[in-house]
Amino acid sequence: MVNKNNSTLQGSPNHGDNTQSVHAGTSRKKALNSLTTPIVQSATYTFENTADLIAFLEAKTWGNGEKTRDEYGRYGNPTVSAVEKRLAALEGTDGKGETDAVLFSSGMAAITTLLLTVLKAGQHVVMTDDVYRRTRIFCETTLAKFGIDTSVVPVGDYDALENAVVKGKTRLIISETPTNPYLRVTDLERIKTIAKANRCLTMIDTTFATPINLCPLEWGIDYVIHSATKYIGGHNDVLGGVLIGNEMRVKPIRDARGAYGNTVDPQAAFLIERGIKTLSLRVRQQNETAQRIAEYLQQHPKVDHVYYPGLASHPDHEVASKQMTGFGGVVSFELAGDLQTTGDFIDALQIPYIAPSLGGVESLVEQPALMSYYDKTSEERAALGMSDSLVRYAVGIEDCDDLIADLEQALATIPERELSDIWEIKFRV
Ligand code: PLP
Repeated sequence: MVNKNNSTLQGSPNHGDNTQSVHAGTSRKKALNSLTTPIVQSATYTFENTADLIAFLEAKTWGNGEKTRDEYGRYGNPTVSAVEKRLAALEGTDGKGETDAVLFSSGMAAITTLLLTVLKAGQHVVMTDDVYRRTRIFCETTLAKFGIDTSVVPVGDYDALENAVVKGKTRLIISETPTNPYLRVTDLERIKTIAKANRCLTMIDTTFATPINLCPLEWGIDYVIHSATKYIGGHNDVLGGVLIGNEMRVKPIRDARGAYGNTVDPQAAFLIERGIKTLSLRVRQQNETAQRIAEYLQQHPKVDHVYYPGLASHPDHEVASKQMTGFGGVVSFELAGDLQTTGDFIDALQIPYIAPSLGGVESLVEQPALMSYYDKTSEERAALGMSDSLVRYAVGIEDCDDLIADLEQALATIPERELSDIWEIKFRV
C-alpha cells in the first residue's frame, strides 16, 4: 500500500486526507468573513480605473507582477478557483513542480478539452478497451474526423499496448483505473514506462478510484481526469469534471477552456466544493462497505462471480494492492441467472436506486447489459465480454448491514439451482 502522507501536497503537505478535504487550497480569510467559500455569481469583474486595468494586463500579458484577480467568467471565477486549488492539493504532485487543476462543466468536457488540446492531425492515440464508452466513441468518431487515429488494446495486455504504439506518431496513451464494469486496475508504472520509452503523454481517468485511493501523478502519469459528478461531488446533485496535472502541462488546457466555454457554473462549483469536504470520509466508508459486500457475495451460492479489486480472486489484486490505498466503492457480480432473472433481482432490491451513475451518498445499481448495451443482442454482448447477468452495484453511505440484508432478501427471490449446476459453475477452471 502507498502511504500518501509521505507525498508533498500543496496547501497543507503534512495533513491527512480528511483535513485536506476540508481545508486544502483555500484561503483562511474569505470575503465578508464568510466561513464557507462564497458563491461569486458574477459573469464579469470590474476595474477601479484604467491604472487598475493596466496593472492587471501587465501581469496577465507580460508576467509583470502577480495575477491575483479575475477578469471574465469564462476565464475564471473565485468559487471555481477554490475548488481547483482543493483538488490540486488532494491529487498530490509529480515531484517536478506545482500541481494545477481545471474544473469543467462535466467529466466529458474535461476529457474532450484535453484531447482536442494536446492532439493534432496525423497523431495517434492508444487506449485500453475498458475506458468509459463515450471517451472511446469520441476518439473513434470526432478525433477520426480531424485525422487522429485511435488503437484500442485489451486492458491488462501490456505487450499489446506497447505493440500498438507507433514511434513518432502516438502522442497519448489513455487508460482508466478501476474500469467499468469489471473494475480492472491498470498498472501505472508499466503504462508510464511504455510512454516514456516512446515519448508519449499519459492520461488516466480515475473517477472510480478518487484521489483518496489513488494519486496517478505520484506514479508519473501526466494527466488525471475525474468525473466530479461521481465521488467528488458525492451527492448525485451536480455535474462536473476536472483535469489535474503539472501546472506547465495544464496551462494550455485552461486556456482552451476559455475558448470552448465549457466552464462550470459557480453554483455547481460550490456544490462540488461542499461535496469534497466529506470526500475522504465517504470514500473510506464506501471502500469498507464494498469490500464486505464483495466478500459476502463471493460465498453466496446464487452468485457465480464477483469482480472487486479488493478480493484475492481479482486478476489485478496484486497491482491494486501496490498502487491503491483502498479498492473503491463499486462491486460487480454475475448472478446465477439470465437477463430476466437479473432484472428481477434488481427489482427486488429495496435500498439502491436503479440509475446510471455512482459515487454518491445513495447506493445505485444497474444491469450494464440493459443500461449501456440495450442496442446489442445477447450474442453481441457476449462477444464484447458483457454478461447479461452482470450487476454493477455502486455503494453509497448507507449502513453496510442494511445493504447486505437487502441483498440477502433479493437473492432469496432467485430460483434455487440444482446442486450439480452450482458445483460446475463455482469450480470451473
Ligand atoms: N469517466 C468515467 C469513468 C465515467 O464513469 C463518466 C460518466 O459516467 C465520465 C468519465 C463522464 O463524466 P460526466 O458524466 O461527468 O461527463
